[in-house]
Amino acid sequence: MEVAIRKNRLQLTVGDITKQKVNCIVNAANGTLYGGGGVDGAIHLAAGPKLLEACKLIRKEQLKGELLPTGEAVITEGYDLPAKFVIHTVGPIWDGKEVERKKQLLANCYRNSLALAKENEIRSIAFPSISTGAYRFPIEMAAEIALNEIIQFLKREPFGNVSMTLFSERDYEVYKQTLDKLIEKD
Ligand code: ADP
Repeated sequence: MEVAIRKNRLQLTVGDITKQKVNCIVNAANGTLYGGGGVDGAIHLAAGPKLLEACKLIRKEQLKGELLPTGEAVITEGYDLPAKFVIHTVGPIWDGKEVERKKQLLANCYRNSLALAKENEIRSIAFPSISTGAYRFPIEMAAEIALNEIIQFLKREPFGNVSMTLFSERDYEVYKQTLDKLIEKD
């Protein structure tokens, strides 16, 4: 599915984000930036060991040894990936508590990643469904937050292409229905 927003495009696709031919892919990382399971593990595996080195350097220099806070984003090169850049962001862990705060933190992931992409003159970016795997965020809620943030951004900024790369048909259907609803409201 694809929609035009001003001169930009928003696409929903099913696929493996590590194979996407875009300027930049987004990693649903954890605060350590040392890799992990799910999409994070897949991205590190495909990018090669230089990605971990770059992440370690960011932890040491940019973050002064601290964890990357939830909702924030940092950028590295893509190394062996088809994508030139990787933006690493940390989604909130869902536990059913502090729902409004968690929703805001998830929105921050998309907003900060898009702002960082723009700063780096990136014209095409692919997001995975942040927080809806191991972090257990309800996907219906996550889809609405993700798509709302992307749509608001694309209404404001001349950017290019934003894609949500979903890992299953089921996830795709949820995002598609949510996007249909959001467009209808407009
Ligand atoms: P989180 O910890 O933020 O929940 P996960 O990696 O566990 O991150 O899951 C986030 C989403 O990424 C899930 O929908 C999962 O199915 C999906 N995913 C896992 N591997 C890939 C991949 N290679 N490409 C795209 N999406 C992926």
